[in-house]
Amino acid sequence: MTTSEAIYQQLQTTLEQQHVALAKELKHEILLDTLVPSATAIKTADLNDLIMMAKSSFIPDLFDLAIRMEKVDAAVCSVKLGMYGLCVDCEEEIEIDDLLEDPAQPRCHACRDHSRYHHD
Ligand SMILES: [Zn+2]
Repeated sequence: MTTSEAIYQQLQTTLEQQHVALAKELKHEILLDTLVPSATAIKTADLNDLIMMAKSSFIPDLFDLAIRMEKVDAAVCSVKLGMYGLCVDCEEEIEIDDLLEDPAQPRCHACRDHSRYHHD
């Protein structure tokens, strides 16, 4: 195994841990904010539905949590597809330093600069 393969594996492990922790936190917050009728309903709910629910709740903390969950979920999906570490826009490899800073980073540096320029 090369050094970068070891780093990617470590990043993916971190991501999976973040995914579990965030899903738990999201469910907990949704329950606290009584967005669902019961604890049973939340256990059977689809993660994407929970994310949608949290995003449309207009509760700032919950909204941020949902955005983070969505990002980490997308990254975990990319691991399953064997696309982890590739930019979602240009499909180039994302700089390893960026991934170390945020394992769920979906874009390379150039594309992030590009989208900042266009959206802000
Ligand atoms: Zn890119």
